[in-house]
Amino acid sequence: MIQTATAENATAQRLFEKLKGVAVGTSGPYTWERCVELAPLVDEINRLKHEKNAVILTHYYVHPEITVGVGDFVGDSYKLAKDAKSTNASIIVFAAVKFMAETAKCLNPDKEVLVPSKQNGCSLADAITAERVRELRREFPEHTFVCYINTSAAVKAVCDVCVTSSNVYDIVQRIPSDKIYFLPDKLMGENVQDEMKRRGVQKDVQIFSATCYVHQQYDPERVLRLRGKYPGLKVLSHPECSPDVIRHADHVASTKGMMQYLRDTDAEAYLLLTECGLAGRAQVEMPGKTFIGPCVECRYMKSNAMQDILRVLRAPDEDDRIVLSDDVREGALRCINAMFHYAEMSG
Ligand code: SF4
Repeated sequence: MIQTATAENATAQRLFEKLKGVAVGTSGPYTWERCVELAPLVDEINRLKHEKNAVILTHYYVHPEITVGVGDFVGDSYKLAKDAKSTNASIIVFAAVKFMAETAKCLNPDKEVLVPSKQNGCSLADAITAERVRELRREFPEHTFVCYINTSAAVKAVCDVCVTSSNVYDIVQRIPSDKIYFLPDKLMGENVQDEMKRRGVQKDVQIFSATCYVHQQYDPERVLRLRGKYPGLKVLSHPECSPDVIRHADHVASTKGMMQYLRDTDAEAYLLLTECGLAGRAQVEMPGKTFIGPCVECRYMKSNAMQDILRVLRAPDEDDRIVLSDDVREGALRCINAMFHYAEMSG
């Protein structure tokens, strides 16, 4: 690693400018000393990215030092899928979880897609297999199978249409079938049922039984307690939270939608009912705003570490690489492209 003290100092300065005051869960508080410690790693990763024509895609939920220091793209699953589709880089490093990297591989079969974290699962994606979906399809032969993006490529390959939290309601409404089987998220499925009723859309929506272990921890009593304590509080909820929680929210949206709401409004304080990382990102982008309340961290997203990003850029192991069979890739791509088709439909 060849870096001058001056270059490292400039990097530390840049990190500190963005990260000072950011403190959520285990991410921070970021001190000057911490930024000085991170600077050589950040410089080396950015140098290798350039040398190897690599890009780093980062989900909002990973540690802010990653999104700020080395991320080329930051966003939610839908935005990152689109970013993966548009990049000209030869290597994609996906600092998030494995199912997202698999989506990137489906869209970029000729590119090397690397996952830096070894603990890259997801309580939703790990809850259902392709074999289980085949059984369900035999049980519900007339239903259109809609899978949340939080599923493996193998599961997508045996479903009809994929959705993300930013487009799930519109896509379920637009699919020209009145029988939908939604998997794997039970709570999001219940929210889909409620939203279809609210929109006056008649559909039989059957749902699977998995949950996101992070979002299911929020409860309505906690929201009511905080509302009592902070008059003027705006509560933003992710559709992976339970319908009981969502009923107490001022706004329900994907992480991208929540960020947009924060940019567009000016409340005294905000409570973000999603993984902690979003509050971290919001503090980076909107240092003048106040975020209160406890948040829950996702152990999978938080297992992404700067050292592992450097390791996979230098010399990836076999199990850092995403490899999909042609059948799985083509099947999953059909399901993902159906999402782009319905998402980009007007009305
Ligand atoms: S926050 Fe929940 S849905 Fe997202 S990766 Fe973690 S476990 Fe999966």
